[in-house]
Amino acid sequence: MSRFEGRRALVTGGASGIGHATTSLLKEMGADVVLLDHDAEAARRTAEDLGVHAITADVRRAEEVETAVADASRALGGRADILVNAAGIYRFRSALEIDVAEWDDVFDTNLRGSWLVARAVARGLVDVGQPGTIVNISSTAGLVADRVEPALHYNASKAGVIALTRQLAVELAPYGIRVNAVCPGLIDTPMLRIMDDPVIGLRYLDEMVPLRRLGRPEEVAALIAFLSSDEAGYVTGVAVPIDGGVTLT
Ligand code: NAP
Repeated sequence: MSRFEGRRALVTGGASGIGHATTSLLKEMGADVVLLDHDAEAARRTAEDLGVHAITADVRRAEEVETAVADASRALGGRADILVNAAGIYRFRSALEIDVAEWDDVFDTNLRGSWLVARAVARGLVDVGQPGTIVNISSTAGLVADRVEPALHYNASKAGVIALTRQLAVELAPYGIRVNAVCPGLIDTPMLRIMDDPVIGLRYLDEMVPLRRLGRPEEVAALIAFLSSDEAGYVTGVAVPIDGGVTLT
């Protein structure tokens, strides 16, 4: 039997990068999957390719999230019991140059968005007395500072995702809902910017990343799948780096 046979998953940011790889893997492992993204056309196209359901919503907007989670239940024929919060944005700018609008956008997407979707999904599960799992995507940026690409708002939002994960893990444990986070390092997705200048990018990999390569979205998806599976049944509230060793030194 596939590991996720009979389970229903909602993956935000599923049209690209880590969310896309996770949608694909969960589907391959037997789950019925809804991908949610704010780009309707990208969501529809990706869902068609992967044979999953698509829902368009902006995770920053509470009402859209509520509607999307209800629509996901209808599409899946029951509450999603796997949530992967992969929608996110990255902006790099020095601390003194960040303006309020950009700060709010980064926080609203990465932190508030993760909370809104987790709240809607968890309330639905608690209502029907069903257990489940939530995996949030933080970052090594939530664990350590970055001298190469400053992004104070991004880093603070990702540290917030770790705090969100821990607190939710404690409060949702009595309902059988496990909540964990992954902290990716440099993963080869459209979001990655450090390789825009290959000279700086390759020097960074050489000097800062013990495994000396970028991570693949499929590798992050595999960790997310493990944390969502029964094999990780005693794991909750952790923030697991997947970073080629970048946070070791
Ligand atoms: P990605 O390829 O840009 O995928 C993120 C997806 O989320 C995109 O489809 C994006 O749409 C969508 N999205 C953005 N804002 C949204 C919103 N308000 N509502 C709904 N969907 C929205 O990036 P990724 O690298 O896979 O990143 C996935 C997660 O991993 C993010 O939380 C990111 O911070 C985290 N992460 C990535 C790395 C890395 O090196 N790639 C490292 C650490 C952590 P658009 O394309 O239109 O923006």
